Amino acid sequence: MYKYAGVIINSNSIQLDRLFTYEIPENLIEKIKVGSRVLVPFGLGNKKIDGFVIELYENVENIKRMKKIYSIFNEFPLLTQENLILIDQMKEKYLCTYMECIKTIIPSALFKGMKNKKEVLIFTGKLLDDKFDKEPYQSIYNIVKANNGKFTKTHLSKNFQVSLSSINTMLKHKFLIQQESIVNRYNDREYLSYEKKELNEEQKNAVNKILNCHEKKFLIHGVTGSGKTEIYMNLVQKMMDQGKESIILVPEISLTPQMVERFKGRFGKDITVFHSKLSDGERLDEWLRVKEGKVKVAIGARSAIFLPFENLGLIVIDEEHEGSYKSDSDPKYNAREIGEIKTELHNCKLVLGSATPSIETYYRCNNSEFELITLNNRADGANMPRIQIVDMREELANNNRSIFSKKLFEEIENRLNKKEQIILFLNRRGFSTFVSCRKCGYVFKCNNCDISLTYHNLGDSLICHYCGSRQKVPKLCPKCGSNYVKYFGVGTERVQEEIKKYFPQAKTLRMDFDTTRKKNSYEYIYNTFKEGKADILIGTQMIAKGLDFHNVTLVGVIAADLSLNLPDFRASERTFQLITQVSGRAGRGKKEGTVVVQTYNPESYSIISASDNNYLGFYNEEINLRNIMNYPPFSQIMLINMSSENEDLLIKNIQNVGIILKDILKNNDKIEILGPCPCEISKIKNNYRWQIIIKGDMELELKKYIRDRIYETLKEVYNHIRVSMDVNPLSLI
Ligand code: ADP
Ligand code: ZN
Ligand code: ZN
Repeated sequence: MYKYAGVIINSNSIQLDRLFTYEIPENLIEKIKVGSRVLVPFGLGNKKIDGFVIELYENVENIKRMKKIYSIFNEFPLLTQENLILIDQMKEKYLCTYMECIKTIIPSALFKGMKNKKEVLIFTGKLLDDKFDKEPYQSIYNIVKANNGKFTKTHLSKNFQVSLSSINTMLKHKFLIQQESIVNRYNDREYLSYEKKELNEEQKNAVNKILNCHEKKFLIHGVTGSGKTEIYMNLVQKMMDQGKESIILVPEISLTPQMVERFKGRFGKDITVFHSKLSDGERLDEWLRVKEGKVKVAIGARSAIFLPFENLGLIVIDEEHEGSYKSDSDPKYNAREIGEIKTELHNCKLVLGSATPSIETYYRCNNSEFELITLNNRADGANMPRIQIVDMREELANNNRSIFSKKLFEEIENRLNKKEQIILFLNRRGFSTFVSCRKCGYVFKCNNCDISLTYHNLGDSLICHYCGSRQKVPKLCPKCGSNYVKYFGVGTERVQEEIKKYFPQAKTLRMDFDTTRKKNSYEYIYNTFKEGKADILIGTQMIAKGLDFHNVTLVGVIAADLSLNLPDFRASERTFQLITQVSGRAGRGKKEGTVVVQTYNPESYSIISASDNNYLGFYNEEINLRNIMNYPPFSQIMLINMSSENEDLLIKNIQNVGIILKDILKNNDKIEILGPCPCEISKIKNNYRWQIIIKGDMELELKKYIRDRIYETLKEVYNHIRVSMDVNPLSLI
């Protein structure tokens, strides 16, 4: 019989990230399980605080003055045995705390005590008397009468512009009453059914290999349009036939209506859609539906990987190279890595898919950690689009100073005349500005790091955000001597303005971070374009993924240089991916597609291999460079980021940390320390940001030791400085 429990306290403090032993009172002995959420007394004042039971003991030493658990929250343990193993592995991988893991795995609504019940308004039938026979009471009366039991107070007030106090008055006078009702917040909109397709040979082989091969982990490398989605759906169906469940991950933004449309159309009510734009309540409902076994398939963004399926047979990660699988808050987990851990725990299949696999994953195929499946042909028989590279240096030489080359201009004109649709793509990420020569294309780079230098207005200087080296912006180009040395920047609004100027008759839509902030706005823009109500869609990388429009015959990449010159060792990889992905949007139907890629660096291997559809060629160049420069997958990177409102304090402390790290690693010639230096984005919301990069082969023990020494160094300034550590970051901005 277990009479004692090891409990993790719900606190953000790293010092409390350990088990505290409590006695279990008689009346709770039967109820408390490993994984239960409990209320306990804590600290000197015995403050009431919640926590999680992680271990149970029959006996413990030193039971004098042991505190007792007060009470238990839910009837069932919130954490499963599997969760606990996962948490242990996450703690090691991401150097994070128990509570950070728990909060990632369990919907936050459960912490807030939210339930899947709400108070709805019920119509009582009492007639409006003289005093109330006026607005806003009449409206409220009529709305509730027509929607009896459907709305809560807040819903009514928000959606029909009536004040809460008027509703309360109506309640007080018994025109309405409130009643508790179980809700399903999940989106039960009907979708058109999406019929099964006869698989082609390549698709059949892929399905058979995945199901019959004893290996567990697969990468499908298939050109855009090769019908990967149909393969996923086929696998999901096979899992269902065996009574097993599936998780399909798609990148956040590309949680497009399209993929959901297809899956809902095929699997109907057995599916849950899980992504970050759901409200806390909606997430809770979906989570509970899965927990209760009512769902067979989940399709969602990275957090869907944690859904509590018990009989998991398949995990699919579509567009596996995408950055949105990595979380940007602690723990900075990568859903791909969590997927691998779950694959072991459930002994299920893991299928990664992409037209442009990440260098790291492809490297692992070559090391036999993943089985490689290649799809070479488009499933609907369409041809791959023709990709043309335009050298923007020549445009300048020919006195064309617009952002459109002559070639792109003519193509746009041509499609507008033919009433075909156009996508203009701006592969801009973040706020980075690099400096280059417009005449010869020369880009200023750091000699130590092979990373583009970033322009800083202040002091007119160029900084390397890896190692911190700094120089003045030269007046003349060191390569050709011209004075066309300028920093580079263009946004989607600018593109839209130029279109208006040259093609006033064209209808444009803009899709970027600004225009898609609201719920459903993405879906709205997507549908408007799909229905042909606009001629040109202008957007950032969120339009590069997964969209399937049949009337698009021209894609223009406005400036490939924007991603090529990011201060990131993955800049070439990103550029290759973006160009390939966005090109895949052209010529999806019967008509042939054309892609125009504008650049000042037409010799770049990432642009050339993308335009030749040559993934392997690109991979071989890139893996070679990574090897020479000792970047992943040949090394690990640990990013230490510190931020504070107090810049002096921050700089002093990160320099201290730098000195300590140099001391720890002084006899280790396999590990390099870059920095400290200001981050690429050096200030966010009044917080200054600095970073240190550690690069090399690091054992777990060393990583932990580094973490602990950093925390120890910063003990005195915890309240003023935030520190975060990211093992294998996807971006170093
Ligand atoms: P991917 O995800 O690999 O880019 P999709 O799954 O979007 O490709 O498929 C591209 C197009 O081919 C879609 O319009 C899809 O309906 C169609 N398609 C897929 N499989 C088949 C098939 N076996 N026969 C005919 N058309 C198919
Ligand atoms: Zn030059
Ligand atoms: Zn450098």
